[in-house]
Amino acid sequence: MAKRGLVWFKNDLRLHDNEALTKAVAECEALLFCYCVEKADFEKLDLGFRRIDAVRFKFLEQSIQDLEKNLKTIGGHLIIGSVTAAETLPKIVERYEITDIYAEKEYAEYELNLIDLVTDALPNVNFHFYWGKTLYHMDDIPFEIAKIPLTSKAYRIPAGKQAEPRPTFSRPTKVKSIEKVEKSKFPSYTSLGFTKKEYDYAKPFVNGGESAALERLEYYTFKSELLTGYRWSRNKSDGLDYSSKFSPYLALGCISAREIYEKIQDYESKIKKNQSTWWLVFELVWRDYFTFKAMRFGNKIYKSKGYKNKKIDWENDPSKFEKWCNGTTGIPFIDAHMRQLNETGYMSNRGRVNCASYFVHDLKIDWTWGAAYFESKLIDYDVSSNWMNWHMQAFEIWYTNPVHQSNKYKAQDFIRKWIPELSKKNDIEVLIPWEYDIPEYVKPIEVYKKWNRAIGLIEKLKV
Ligand code: FAD
Repeated sequence: MAKRGLVWFKNDLRLHDNEALTKAVAECEALLFCYCVEKADFEKLDLGFRRIDAVRFKFLEQSIQDLEKNLKTIGGHLIIGSVTAAETLPKIVERYEITDIYAEKEYAEYELNLIDLVTDALPNVNFHFYWGKTLYHMDDIPFEIAKIPLTSKAYRIPAGKQAEPRPTFSRPTKVKSIEKVEKSKFPSYTSLGFTKKEYDYAKPFVNGGESAALERLEYYTFKSELLTGYRWSRNKSDGLDYSSKFSPYLALGCISAREIYEKIQDYESKIKKNQSTWWLVFELVWRDYFTFKAMRFGNKIYKSKGYKNKKIDWENDPSKFEKWCNGTTGIPFIDAHMRQLNETGYMSNRGRVNCASYFVHDLKIDWTWGAAYFESKLIDYDVSSNWMNWHMQAFEIWYTNPVHQSNKYKAQDFIRKWIPELSKKNDIEVLIPWEYDIPEYVKPIEVYKKWNRAIGLIEKLKV
Protein backbone atom coordinates (compact mmCIF):
# COMPACT_ATOMS: atom_id res chain seq x y z
CA MET A 1 0.00 0.00 0.00
CA ALA A 2 1.24 3.48 -0.82
CA LYS A 3 2.37 5.38 2.25
CA ARG A 4 0.88 8.71 3.26
CA GLY A 5 3.40 10.24 5.60
CA LEU A 6 3.50 12.86 8.30
CA VAL A 7 6.79 14.40 9.40
CA TRP A 8 6.41 15.39 13.04
CA PHE A 9 8.95 18.13 13.78
CA LYS A 10 10.02 18.58 17.42
CA ASN A 11 13.56 19.74 18.18
CA ASP A 12 14.72 19.18 14.60
CA LEU A 13 13.39 22.33 12.94
CA ARG A 14 15.40 22.08 9.75
CA LEU A 15 15.35 20.69 6.23
CA HIS A 16 19.09 19.95 6.01
CA ASP A 17 20.58 16.82 7.60
CA ASN A 18 17.22 15.58 8.83
CA GLU A 19 17.00 11.81 8.55
CA ALA A 20 13.29 11.60 9.42
CA LEU A 21 12.47 14.08 6.67
CA THR A 22 14.80 12.44 4.15
CA LYS A 23 13.30 8.98 4.76
CA ALA A 24 9.74 10.30 4.61
CA VAL A 25 10.41 12.02 1.27
CA ALA A 26 11.96 8.84 -0.14
CA GLU A 27 9.29 6.43 1.11
CA CYS A 28 5.94 8.23 0.89
CA GLU A 29 3.61 8.91 -1.95
CA ALA A 30 2.29 12.07 -0.28
CA LEU A 31 3.41 14.05 2.76
CA LEU A 32 2.27 16.44 5.43
CA PHE A 33 4.33 18.28 8.05
CA CYS A 34 3.42 19.19 11.57
CA TYR A 35 4.77 20.99 14.63
CA CYS A 36 2.80 21.01 17.88
CA VAL A 37 3.18 23.61 20.60
CA GLU A 38 2.71 21.96 23.99
CA LYS A 39 0.50 24.46 25.79
CA ALA A 40 1.17 22.99 29.24
CA ASP A 41 4.86 23.90 28.87
CA PHE A 42 3.95 27.56 29.28
CA GLU A 43 2.20 27.14 32.64
CA LYS A 44 3.73 28.33 35.89
CA LEU A 45 5.83 26.00 38.02
CA ASP A 46 5.61 25.91 41.85
CA LEU A 47 8.74 28.08 41.87
CA GLY A 48 6.64 30.96 40.52
CA PHE A 49 7.80 31.19 36.90
CA ARG A 50 6.80 29.47 33.69
CA ARG A 51 8.54 26.38 32.44
CA ILE A 52 9.02 28.26 29.12
CA ASP A 53 9.07 32.02 29.33
CA ALA A 54 8.50 34.76 26.74
CA VAL A 55 12.00 34.90 25.20
CA ARG A 56 11.95 31.19 24.47
CA PHE A 57 8.41 31.53 23.12
CA LYS A 58 9.51 34.25 20.70
CA PHE A 59 12.59 32.34 19.57
CA LEU A 60 10.44 29.27 18.92
CA GLU A 61 7.89 31.36 17.03
CA GLN A 62 10.65 32.72 14.75
CA SER A 63 12.04 29.22 14.20
CA ILE A 64 8.66 27.73 13.28
CA GLN A 65 7.84 30.58 10.92
CA ASP A 66 11.14 30.00 9.17
CA LEU A 67 10.49 26.26 8.92
CA GLU A 68 7.06 26.93 7.45
CA LYS A 69 8.56 29.28 4.87
CA ASN A 70 11.34 26.85 3.92
CA LEU A 71 8.90 23.96 3.58
CA LYS A 72 6.75 26.07 1.28
CA THR A 73 9.67 26.62 -1.08
CA ILE A 74 9.89 22.85 -1.65
CA GLY A 75 6.13 22.37 -1.91
CA GLY A 76 5.42 21.34 1.70
CA HIS A 77 2.75 22.51 4.09
CA LEU A 78 3.22 22.84 7.85
CA ILE A 79 0.30 22.35 10.21
CA ILE A 80 0.86 23.98 13.58
CA GLY A 81 -0.91 22.45 16.57
CA SER A 82 -1.57 24.75 19.49
CA VAL A 83 -2.50 22.48 22.41
CA THR A 84 -0.53 19.21 22.36
CA ALA A 85 0.70 16.64 19.86
CA ALA A 86 -1.29 14.03 21.73
CA GLU A 87 -4.50 15.75 20.52
CA THR A 88 -3.42 17.19 17.19
CA LEU A 89 -1.69 14.18 15.61
CA PRO A 90 -4.63 11.75 15.94
CA LYS A 91 -6.89 14.34 14.27
CA ILE A 92 -4.47 14.84 11.38
CA VAL A 93 -4.02 11.10 10.94
CA GLU A 94 -7.75 10.60 10.66
CA ARG A 95 -8.48 13.57 8.44
CA TYR A 96 -5.64 13.01 5.95
CA GLU A 97 -5.47 9.18 6.15
CA ILE A 98 -1.88 9.15 7.34
CA THR A 99 -0.28 5.70 7.43
CA ASP A 100 3.25 6.56 8.65
CA ILE A 101 4.76 9.12 11.02
CA TYR A 102 8.44 10.10 10.85
CA ALA A 103 10.18 11.90 13.70
CA GLU A 104 13.40 12.35 15.66
CA LYS A 105 14.14 9.94 18.49
CA GLU A 106 13.94 11.37 22.03
CA TYR A 107 15.85 10.48 25.19
CA ALA A 108 14.50 12.44 28.17
CA GLU A 109 11.49 11.35 30.22
CA TYR A 110 9.14 14.22 29.48
CA GLU A 111 9.62 13.94 25.72
CA LEU A 112 9.43 10.13 25.82
CA ASN A 113 6.12 10.34 27.70
CA LEU A 114 4.69 12.51 24.96
CA ILE A 115 5.81 9.99 22.35
CA ASP A 116 4.13 7.21 24.35
CA LEU A 117 0.88 9.17 24.45
CA VAL A 118 0.97 9.69 20.70
CA THR A 119 1.94 6.14 19.77
CA ASP A 120 -0.66 4.68 22.18
CA ALA A 121 -3.34 6.86 20.60
CA LEU A 122 -2.39 5.71 17.09
CA PRO A 123 -1.98 1.90 17.18
CA ASN A 124 -2.54 1.54 13.43
CA VAL A 125 0.09 4.02 12.33
CA ASN A 126 3.68 2.98 11.56
CA PHE A 127 6.14 5.11 13.47
CA HIS A 128 9.72 5.68 12.29
CA PHE A 129 12.11 7.34 14.74
CA TYR A 130 15.67 8.40 13.91
CA TRP A 131 18.48 9.58 16.17
CA GLY A 132 19.64 13.03 15.08
CA LYS A 133 20.72 15.11 18.04
CA THR A 134 24.42 14.43 18.47
CA LEU A 135 27.61 14.68 16.44
CA TYR A 136 28.35 10.98 16.86
CA HIS A 137 25.36 8.74 16.26
CA MET A 138 24.32 6.97 19.46
CA ASP A 139 24.71 3.60 17.70
CA ASP A 140 28.31 4.36 16.70
CA ILE A 141 29.92 5.33 20.01
CA PRO A 142 32.10 2.66 21.62
CA PHE A 143 30.01 2.48 24.81
CA GLU A 144 26.66 1.10 25.84
CA ILE A 145 24.56 3.90 27.33
CA ALA A 146 24.51 2.09 30.70
CA LYS A 147 28.31 2.25 30.73
CA ILE A 148 28.96 5.83 29.64
CA PRO A 149 32.08 6.86 31.60
CA LEU A 150 31.86 9.24 34.54
CA THR A 151 34.52 11.57 33.16
CA SER A 152 34.38 13.33 29.83
CA LYS A 153 37.95 12.37 28.96
CA ALA A 154 37.21 8.67 29.38
CA TYR A 155 34.38 9.14 26.92
CA ARG A 156 35.99 11.58 24.49
CA ILE A 157 39.22 9.78 23.68
CA PRO A 158 37.78 6.35 22.77
CA ALA A 159 34.83 8.01 20.98
CA GLY A 160 37.22 10.12 18.87
CA LYS A 161 39.40 7.12 18.03
CA GLN A 162 36.73 4.53 17.36
CA ALA A 163 33.86 6.49 15.85
CA GLU A 164 33.30 8.96 13.01
CA PRO A 165 30.42 11.40 12.61
CA ARG A 166 28.12 10.11 9.87
CA PRO A 167 27.80 12.23 6.70
CA THR A 168 24.95 14.73 6.59
CA PHE A 169 21.70 14.16 4.66
CA SER A 170 20.99 16.60 1.82
CA ARG A 171 18.18 19.08 1.94
CA PRO A 172 15.22 17.79 -0.13
CA THR A 173 14.47 19.95 -3.15
CA LYS A 174 10.88 18.92 -3.74
CA VAL A 175 8.20 17.11 -1.75
CA LYS A 176 4.91 15.55 -2.81
CA SER A 177 2.46 17.32 -0.58
CA ILE A 178 -0.98 16.13 0.47
CA GLU A 179 -3.43 18.56 -1.09
CA LYS A 180 -6.15 20.79 0.37
CA VAL A 181 -4.61 21.11 3.78
CA GLU A 182 -6.15 23.18 6.56
CA LYS A 183 -4.55 26.55 7.39
CA SER A 184 -3.05 26.99 10.82
CA LYS A 185 -1.04 29.65 12.62
CA PHE A 186 1.51 29.73 15.38
CA PRO A 187 -0.45 30.41 18.61
CA SER A 188 -0.54 34.02 19.70
CA TYR A 189 1.33 35.07 22.83
CA THR A 190 -1.97 35.97 24.48
CA SER A 191 -3.33 32.45 23.96
CA LEU A 192 -0.43 31.16 26.04
CA GLY A 193 -0.99 33.73 28.77
CA PHE A 194 1.74 36.27 27.96
CA THR A 195 1.06 39.98 28.22
CA LYS A 196 2.06 42.42 25.50
CA LYS A 197 4.65 43.87 27.87
CA GLU A 198 6.25 40.44 28.44
CA TYR A 199 6.25 39.70 24.72
CA ASP A 200 7.69 43.07 23.73
CA TYR A 201 10.38 42.97 26.44
CA ALA A 202 11.64 39.62 25.15
CA LYS A 203 14.47 40.17 22.66
CA PRO A 204 16.06 36.85 21.67
CA PHE A 205 19.82 37.28 21.43
CA VAL A 206 19.78 35.91 17.88
CA ASN A 207 16.92 35.40 15.42
CA GLY A 208 15.45 31.90 15.36
CA GLY A 209 15.24 29.50 12.43
CA GLU A 210 17.25 27.34 10.07
CA SER A 211 17.95 30.22 7.67
CA ALA A 212 19.49 32.34 10.43
CA ALA A 213 21.39 29.29 11.73
CA LEU A 214 23.00 28.55 8.36
CA GLU A 215 23.84 32.22 7.91
CA ARG A 216 25.46 32.27 11.34
CA LEU A 217 27.49 29.17 10.47
CA GLU A 218 28.75 30.78 7.29
CA TYR A 219 29.47 34.05 9.09
CA TYR A 220 31.39 32.54 12.01
CA THR A 221 33.51 30.44 9.64
CA PHE A 222 34.27 31.55 6.08
CA LYS A 223 32.84 35.07 6.10
CA SER A 224 34.49 36.52 9.21
CA GLU A 225 37.07 33.79 9.97
CA LEU A 226 36.26 34.39 13.64
CA LEU A 227 36.62 30.65 14.13
CA THR A 228 40.40 31.01 13.85
CA GLY A 229 40.47 32.96 17.16
CA TYR A 230 37.73 31.02 19.03
CA ARG A 231 40.12 29.28 21.43
CA TRP A 232 41.29 32.66 22.80
CA SER A 233 38.02 34.62 22.69
CA ARG A 234 35.52 32.04 23.92
CA ASN A 235 35.59 33.12 27.58
CA LYS A 236 34.28 36.63 27.07
CA SER A 237 30.75 37.78 28.02
CA ASP A 238 29.68 40.47 25.64
CA GLY A 239 28.74 40.59 21.98
CA LEU A 240 27.98 38.19 19.18
CA ASP A 241 31.44 37.34 17.99
CA TYR A 242 33.59 35.88 20.78
CA SER A 243 31.87 32.48 20.54
CA SER A 244 29.84 30.73 17.87
CA LYS A 245 26.26 31.27 19.20
CA PHE A 246 25.33 27.96 17.62
CA SER A 247 23.69 26.77 20.86
CA PRO A 248 20.20 28.29 20.36
CA TYR A 249 20.10 26.74 16.89
CA LEU A 250 21.36 23.37 18.07
CA ALA A 251 18.79 23.37 20.88
CA LEU A 252 15.82 23.57 18.50
CA GLY A 253 17.60 21.60 15.82
CA CYS A 254 17.67 24.56 13.40
CA ILE A 255 21.14 23.26 12.65
CA SER A 256 22.69 19.83 13.12
CA ALA A 257 25.97 19.17 14.92
CA ARG A 258 27.14 17.25 11.83
CA GLU A 259 26.49 20.21 9.56
CA ILE A 260 28.72 22.32 11.81
CA TYR A 261 31.36 19.58 11.87
CA GLU A 262 31.47 19.33 8.08
CA LYS A 263 31.81 23.10 7.79
CA ILE A 264 34.70 23.09 10.26
CA GLN A 265 36.43 20.34 8.28
CA ASP A 266 36.03 22.37 5.11
CA TYR A 267 37.37 25.45 6.92
CA GLU A 268 40.36 23.46 8.15
CA SER A 269 41.21 22.37 4.64
CA LYS A 270 40.69 25.78 2.99
CA ILE A 271 41.44 28.45 5.61
CA LYS A 272 43.10 27.30 8.82
CA LYS A 273 43.39 24.26 11.06
CA ASN A 274 44.45 25.21 14.60
CA GLN A 275 43.61 24.86 18.30
CA SER A 276 40.41 26.85 17.75
CA THR A 277 38.97 24.54 15.11
CA TRP A 278 39.87 21.58 17.32
CA TRP A 279 38.26 23.27 20.33
CA LEU A 280 34.92 23.93 18.70
CA VAL A 281 34.60 20.25 17.79
CA PHE A 282 35.69 19.42 21.35
CA GLU A 283 32.74 21.48 22.65
CA LEU A 284 30.33 19.61 20.38
CA VAL A 285 31.73 16.39 21.80
CA TRP A 286 31.02 17.76 25.33
CA ARG A 287 27.46 18.28 24.25
CA ASP A 288 27.29 14.67 23.02
CA TYR A 289 28.84 13.44 26.24
CA PHE A 290 26.25 15.21 28.39
CA THR A 291 23.46 13.80 26.24
CA PHE A 292 24.66 10.23 26.62
CA LYS A 293 25.43 10.68 30.31
CA ALA A 294 21.94 12.09 30.89
CA MET A 295 20.54 9.02 29.13
CA ARG A 296 22.54 6.82 31.46
CA PHE A 297 21.28 8.47 34.64
CA GLY A 298 17.69 9.19 33.55
CA ASN A 299 15.57 11.11 36.03
CA LYS A 300 18.34 11.31 38.63
CA ILE A 301 19.75 14.29 36.73
CA TYR A 302 16.82 16.43 37.92
CA LYS A 303 17.07 15.48 41.62
CA SER A 304 18.59 17.68 44.35
CA LYS A 305 20.86 14.81 45.41
CA GLY A 306 22.01 14.31 41.84
CA TYR A 307 22.95 11.02 40.29
CA LYS A 308 25.46 10.36 43.06
CA ASN A 309 22.71 10.61 45.69
CA LYS A 310 24.68 13.16 47.70
CA LYS A 311 22.75 15.20 50.26
CA ILE A 312 23.64 18.89 50.65
CA ASP A 313 21.94 21.09 53.27
CA TRP A 314 20.65 23.98 51.21
CA GLU A 315 19.43 27.16 52.88
CA ASN A 316 16.88 27.95 50.15
CA ASP A 317 16.16 31.55 51.16
CA PRO A 318 13.33 32.66 48.79
CA SER A 319 14.32 36.34 48.92
CA LYS A 320 17.89 35.53 47.83
CA PHE A 321 16.47 33.37 45.05
CA GLU A 322 14.30 36.24 43.87
CA LYS A 323 17.24 38.66 43.88
CA TRP A 324 19.36 36.24 41.89
CA CYS A 325 16.57 35.75 39.32
CA ASN A 326 16.00 39.48 38.95
CA GLY A 327 19.66 40.44 38.80
CA THR A 328 19.56 42.45 42.03
CA THR A 329 22.05 40.58 44.25
CA GLY A 330 24.32 43.65 44.44
CA ILE A 331 27.18 41.70 42.82
CA PRO A 332 27.56 43.41 39.42
CA PHE A 333 29.12 40.50 37.54
CA ILE A 334 26.18 38.27 38.53
CA ASP A 335 23.47 40.89 38.07
CA ALA A 336 24.66 41.96 34.62
CA HIS A 337 24.56 38.36 33.40
CA MET A 338 21.17 37.62 34.94
CA ARG A 339 19.65 40.76 33.42
CA GLN A 340 21.07 39.81 30.03
CA LEU A 341 19.52 36.34 30.40
CA ASN A 342 16.12 37.74 31.37
CA GLU A 343 15.94 40.03 28.36
CA THR A 344 17.73 38.06 25.64
CA GLY A 345 17.48 34.41 26.70
CA TYR A 346 21.24 34.03 26.34
CA MET A 347 24.24 34.17 28.66
CA SER A 348 27.87 33.39 27.91
CA ASN A 349 29.43 30.23 29.27
CA ARG A 350 31.55 32.43 31.60
CA GLY A 351 28.37 34.02 32.93
CA ARG A 352 26.63 30.66 33.41
CA VAL A 353 29.55 29.23 35.35
CA ASN A 354 29.70 32.28 37.64
CA CYS A 355 25.94 32.62 38.19
CA ALA A 356 25.58 28.89 38.94
CA SER A 357 28.62 28.74 41.21
CA TYR A 358 27.47 31.83 43.18
CA PHE A 359 23.98 30.30 43.41
CA VAL A 360 25.06 26.97 44.90
CA HIS A 361 28.19 27.88 46.87
CA ASP A 362 27.41 31.41 48.14
CA LEU A 363 23.63 31.68 48.22
CA LYS A 364 23.38 27.97 49.11
CA ILE A 365 20.18 27.44 47.18
CA ASP A 366 19.18 24.03 45.81
CA TRP A 367 20.81 23.84 42.38
CA THR A 368 17.64 22.40 40.82
CA TRP A 369 15.89 25.77 41.37
CA GLY A 370 18.62 27.52 39.40
CA ALA A 371 18.53 24.91 36.66
CA ALA A 372 14.73 25.28 36.42
CA TYR A 373 15.13 29.06 36.11
CA PHE A 374 17.67 28.66 33.31
CA GLU A 375 15.30 26.21 31.65
CA SER A 376 12.58 28.84 31.71
CA LYS A 377 14.74 31.52 30.13
CA LEU A 378 17.50 30.09 27.92
CA ILE A 379 16.77 30.16 24.19
CA ASP A 380 19.42 27.43 23.91
CA TYR A 381 17.80 25.36 26.65
CA ASP A 382 18.78 21.76 26.15
CA VAL A 383 17.78 19.10 28.69
CA SER A 384 21.15 17.46 29.12
CA SER A 385 23.42 20.49 28.58
CA ASN A 386 21.53 22.50 31.16
CA TRP A 387 20.93 19.91 33.86
CA MET A 388 24.33 18.23 33.54
CA ASN A 389 26.22 21.55 33.65
CA TRP A 390 24.27 22.60 36.74
CA HIS A 391 24.89 19.20 38.27
CA MET A 392 28.61 19.69 37.68
CA GLN A 393 28.56 23.10 39.36
CA ALA A 394 26.75 21.67 42.37
CA PHE A 395 28.73 18.49 42.89
CA GLU A 396 31.90 18.26 40.86
CA ILE A 397 33.54 21.58 40.27
CA TRP A 398 35.52 24.02 42.37
CA TYR A 399 34.21 27.41 43.43
CA THR A 400 34.36 30.30 40.92
CA ASN A 401 34.92 33.71 42.55
CA PRO A 402 32.70 36.26 40.71
CA VAL A 403 34.66 39.28 41.95
CA HIS A 404 37.98 37.87 40.78
CA GLN A 405 36.45 36.80 37.46
CA SER A 406 34.90 40.21 36.79
CA ASN A 407 38.41 41.69 37.01
CA LYS A 408 40.16 38.86 35.17
CA TYR A 409 37.78 39.10 32.20
CA LYS A 410 37.63 42.93 32.27
CA ALA A 411 33.84 42.99 32.55
CA GLN A 412 33.46 46.74 33.15
CA ASP A 413 31.80 47.61 29.83
CA PHE A 414 29.54 44.58 30.00
CA ILE A 415 28.40 45.62 33.50
CA ARG A 416 27.85 49.24 32.47
CA LYS A 417 25.72 48.02 29.57
CA TRP A 418 23.42 45.78 31.61
CA ILE A 419 23.25 47.73 34.88
CA PRO A 420 22.19 51.30 34.03
CA GLU A 421 22.63 52.28 37.71
CA LEU A 422 26.37 51.80 37.18
CA SER A 423 26.63 53.12 33.63
CA LYS A 424 28.56 56.24 34.65
CA LYS A 425 30.86 54.63 37.20
CA ASN A 426 34.58 54.17 36.72
CA ASP A 427 36.40 50.88 36.14
CA ILE A 428 36.88 50.18 39.84
CA GLU A 429 33.46 51.28 41.11
CA VAL A 430 31.60 49.06 38.64
CA LEU A 431 33.37 45.95 39.89
CA ILE A 432 33.07 46.61 43.67
CA PRO A 433 30.33 49.26 44.06
CA TRP A 434 29.73 48.36 47.74
CA GLU A 435 33.11 49.92 48.60
CA TYR A 436 31.82 53.32 47.39
CA ASP A 437 28.82 55.52 48.01
CA ILE A 438 26.49 54.55 45.14
CA PRO A 439 22.89 54.82 46.36
CA GLU A 440 21.38 54.05 42.92
CA TYR A 441 22.56 50.43 43.01
CA VAL A 442 21.40 47.73 45.47
CA LYS A 443 23.59 46.74 48.42
CA PRO A 444 25.02 43.23 48.10
CA ILE A 445 23.35 40.26 49.79
CA GLU A 446 26.73 39.57 51.42
CA VAL A 447 30.40 40.36 50.77
CA TYR A 448 32.36 37.25 51.70
CA LYS A 449 35.79 37.25 53.36
CA LYS A 450 37.01 34.86 50.67
CA TRP A 451 36.67 37.75 48.18
CA ASN A 452 39.07 40.06 50.11
CA ARG A 453 42.11 39.30 47.97
CA ALA A 454 40.18 39.85 44.73
CA ILE A 455 38.76 43.12 46.10
CA GLY A 456 42.27 44.24 47.08
CA LEU A 457 43.56 43.55 43.57
CA ILE A 458 40.77 45.64 42.05
CA GLU A 459 41.48 48.53 44.44
CA LYS A 460 45.10 48.47 43.31
CA LEU A 461 43.91 49.39 39.77
CA LYS A 462 43.67 52.96 41.12
CA VAL A 463 47.42 53.48 40.91
P1 FAD B 1 30.56 27.87 21.88
O1 FAD B 1 31.56 28.22 22.88
O2 FAD B 1 30.68 28.54 20.55
O3 FAD B 1 30.45 26.32 21.74
C1 FAD B 1 29.96 25.65 20.57
C2 FAD B 1 28.90 24.66 20.97
O4 FAD B 1 29.44 23.66 21.82
C3 FAD B 1 27.76 25.29 21.75
O5 FAD B 1 26.82 25.88 20.88
C4 FAD B 1 27.21 24.08 22.51
O6 FAD B 1 26.35 23.33 21.71
C5 FAD B 1 28.46 23.25 22.79
N1 FAD B 1 28.95 23.54 24.15
C6 FAD B 1 29.87 24.47 24.51
N2 FAD B 1 30.09 24.40 25.84
C7 FAD B 1 29.28 23.42 26.31
C8 FAD B 1 29.05 22.87 27.60
N3 FAD B 1 29.69 23.33 28.70
N4 FAD B 1 28.15 21.90 27.73
C9 FAD B 1 27.48 21.42 26.66
N5 FAD B 1 27.66 21.89 25.41
C10 FAD B 1 28.55 22.87 25.24
N6 FAD B 1 24.41 24.88 26.68
C11 FAD B 1 23.32 24.66 25.96
O7 FAD B 1 23.41 24.48 24.74
N7 FAD B 1 22.09 24.60 26.56
C12 FAD B 1 21.92 24.78 27.90
O8 FAD B 1 20.79 24.69 28.39
C13 FAD B 1 23.08 25.07 28.67
N8 FAD B 1 22.97 25.31 30.01
C14 FAD B 1 24.11 25.56 30.74
C15 FAD B 1 24.01 25.77 32.12
C16 FAD B 1 25.15 26.02 32.88
C17 FAD B 1 25.04 26.21 34.39
C18 FAD B 1 26.41 26.07 32.25
C19 FAD B 1 27.65 26.34 33.06
C20 FAD B 1 26.52 25.86 30.89
C21 FAD B 1 25.39 25.60 30.12
N9 FAD B 1 25.47 25.37 28.72
C22 FAD B 1 24.33 25.10 28.01
C23 FAD B 1 26.78 25.26 28.06
C24 FAD B 1 27.36 26.54 27.43
O9 FAD B 1 27.34 27.59 28.34
C25 FAD B 1 26.65 26.96 26.15
O10 FAD B 1 26.53 25.87 25.28
C26 FAD B 1 27.43 28.06 25.42
O11 FAD B 1 27.61 29.16 26.25
C27 FAD B 1 26.66 28.44 24.19
O12 FAD B 1 27.25 29.52 23.48
P2 FAD B 1 27.95 29.24 22.08
O13 FAD B 1 27.06 28.48 21.18
O14 FAD B 1 28.48 30.53 21.60
O15 FAD B 1 29.13 28.28 22.55
